[in-house]
Amino acid sequence: MDLFEYQAKELFAEYGVPVPQGKVASTPEEARAIAEEFAAAGKSRVVVKAQVKTGGRGKAGGVKLAGDAAEARDLAAQILGMDIKGHTVHRVLIEEASDIAEEYYFSFLLDRANRTFLSICSAEGGVEIEEVAATNPDAVAKVAVNPLEGAPADVAAEIVRRGKLPEAAAQGATEAVTKLWDCFVGKDAQLVEVNPLILTGDGRVVALDGKVTLDENADFRQDLESLAFAAEGDPLEVKAKEKGLNYVKLDGQVGIIGNGAGLVMSTLDVVAYAGEAHGGVKPANFLDIGGGASAEVMANGLEIILGDPDVKSVFVNVFGGITACDAVANGIVSALELLESRGDDVSKPLVVRLDGNNAEVGRKILNDRSHPAVRQLETMDGAADKAAELAAK
Ligand code: GDP
Ligand code: MN
Repeated sequence: MDLFEYQAKELFAEYGVPVPQGKVASTPEEARAIAEEFAAAGKSRVVVKAQVKTGGRGKAGGVKLAGDAAEARDLAAQILGMDIKGHTVHRVLIEEASDIAEEYYFSFLLDRANRTFLSICSAEGGVEIEEVAATNPDAVAKVAVNPLEGAPADVAAEIVRRGKLPEAAAQGATEAVTKLWDCFVGKDAQLVEVNPLILTGDGRVVALDGKVTLDENADFRQDLESLAFAAEGDPLEVKAKEKGLNYVKLDGQVGIIGNGAGLVMSTLDVVAYAGEAHGGVKPANFLDIGGGASAEVMANGLEIILGDPDVKSVFVNVFGGITACDAVANGIVSALELLESRGDDVSKPLVVRLDGNNAEVGRKILNDRSHPAVRQLETMDGAADKAAELAAK
């Protein structure tokens, strides 16, 4: 589970990692009030930061400096509601502005490939670390961390030295690294990233940005609930999660429903490929309805997908295994009836491909029902092409 920047910084602060003072606002007026509090404490310059779970907010115009409370309000008004890489900004963090002398990069992460933990440290922060690693690999130190040893002062100092942080920042960065390790372990995180970790004009090392990913498997001993309220992310993804569906929103136009993650992944590929011949239409989502394709599961899936305004056509790709195609076909018919009875719009074209166990019977059920939105194709490629063609219209 990814956290918002402000939540990440709350965890950092809990472990003694220096962070700027800040508070979250969800309206421009709240932003102004917070900025006024800072001004009363002698800090009239504040930063207004979009709280979305994606990087590159600065570049997208989601991080702005304000000289006074009125400007903070205006900037908040600008940033709230903004769309950053498909994430709508519902909250802004109002923070005391920092005087940045230098920007570094630091992270701890789980290194699955090497079955260990890894620290990444660089004196070249503030920009995307992948970019630094690509153009100037020597500037990025990757140091394995022994989980039994952790990052006490000597280990942390070595990481900072390998990252080539300057002498002026060494002490502060070393302390921050040790505390970030404690946070990483204490919260069962999979990632703790600080970009930038800054050196201020007056020589302090401060975490200016924060990204934390927590391990949901640690739910039994962590209070993830309290952090998850903010797991809003994409509204459709939240809704899908509530319904127990494996759904990921993508930015194309063809809604996808399939049974089994492998089949859905290949469906995405096939649709993307077919879409090239139709003006570049792409899959709009990943949705695996799993083994049992009951009417209810199918209705939930269709409801999510048809509720996505980007979706222009839907491709239901089912391979009957344990759940036979006739059960799936009945599921589709009942799902459409259920949605229609609730007044949902089910007029978007639905391309269905049934194959495998009892495919003939399943196709017949759909043919007999002859719902105006539904058309059937026998092959996956044919159906993908039809769905792409309909989405391009
Ligand atoms: P990101 O773009 O999503 O990674 O957001 P960041 O929190 O990393 O902010 C982007 C950039 O904005 C930073 O690298 C800084 O250069 C700048 N920035 C953020 N906060 C401050 C601040 O308090 N003072 C100044 N001068 N610049 C800031
Ligand atoms: Mn950043």
